[in-house]
Amino acid sequence: YASKAAGRGQFTFFEPGMDMPGGDTMKAELLRALAHKEFELHYQPIVNLSDVSVLGYEALLRWRHPEQGLILPDTFIPTAEDSGLIVEIGQWILEQACQDACGWEDGQKVAVNISAVQLHRGDIGASVRQALASTGLPPSRLELELTESVLLNRQEAEATLADIRNLGVGLALDDFGTGFSTFTYLAELPVTRIKLDRHFVSTLETNERSRAILASTINLARNLQLEVTAEGIENMTQLAWLRGVGCDAGQGYLFGKPQRQDLFFPSPSRLVSA
Ligand code: C2E
Ligand code: CA
Ligand code: CA
Ligand code: CA
Repeated sequence: YASKAAGRGQFTFFEPGMDMPGGDTMKAELLRALAHKEFELHYQPIVNLSDVSVLGYEALLRWRHPEQGLILPDTFIPTAEDSGLIVEIGQWILEQACQDACGWEDGQKVAVNISAVQLHRGDIGASVRQALASTGLPPSRLELELTESVLLNRQEAEATLADIRNLGVGLALDDFGTGFSTFTYLAELPVTRIKLDRHFVSTLETNERSRAILASTINLARNLQLEVTAEGIENMTQLAWLRGVGCDAGQGYLFGKPQRQDLFFPSPSRLVSA
């Protein structure tokens, strides 16, 4: 965050080696992208590890740039956050994700990533209410994914998140284990799920400590009566081990990469949007 604070209106973002304008140009590009509907959501399945049934999907933002093709979020979300545009883009993401989920099987959830800026500069409670009201999605089918950066200002986050949780919307702590004060968050915030960071899963075969951390966190989740999802499962060995330690849910290339929903649901989405 240090670099983001460097001067208002001065966007220092630059991706070395990429033919992508930085700073104000990028902000203007993002505004244009929003107006021209160049953003799209891709969905990655989250499965029940015991029977591999689909519990829901995580919405992952993509930018279909007219010249540069599909751009991944790590490239442009920092600028969207610095410029505050993430509030508007985030509102679109929430509405689109809720609308898409209305066409899925009953009970399947949609998980939406929320940026810190949406929490502190926007009115995320109002955005969530608006998205649920305009689409009719039952609140229990929506889950917000929050990283620790979202929660840096804990007092402020606490009230807002309690309000959202009271609507019946789920709250997942994303990238669990990569921050510094995760236990404080678990104790203070109305979280309903832990997402085990991909790093631990990708090293579990070779690193005994990764296995110990995963097993302990799954146990902790059980004791706190939280659901738990392992991220980044790419092979059968990882799946078998996670099943063995009682992990409920998982996500990763083994089950499916993020893709446009019309590629896995040819008709329902069209029926819904028609
Ligand atoms: P994240 O929330 O931790 O999302 C998971 C990332 O891991 C995604 O990258 C996904 O494509 C990738 N992934 C999933 N399974 C596997 C796997 O098996 N192996 C590997 N190597 N990677 C896997 P993606 O889509 O590039 O998103 C990157 C980050 O951008 C996300 O991390 C999230 O922090 C942010 N992001 C994505 N969409 C949104 C959004 O709509 N709003 C906000 N605020 N942030 C978003
Ligand atoms: Ca996430
Ligand atoms: Ca994650
Ligand atoms: Ca991440």
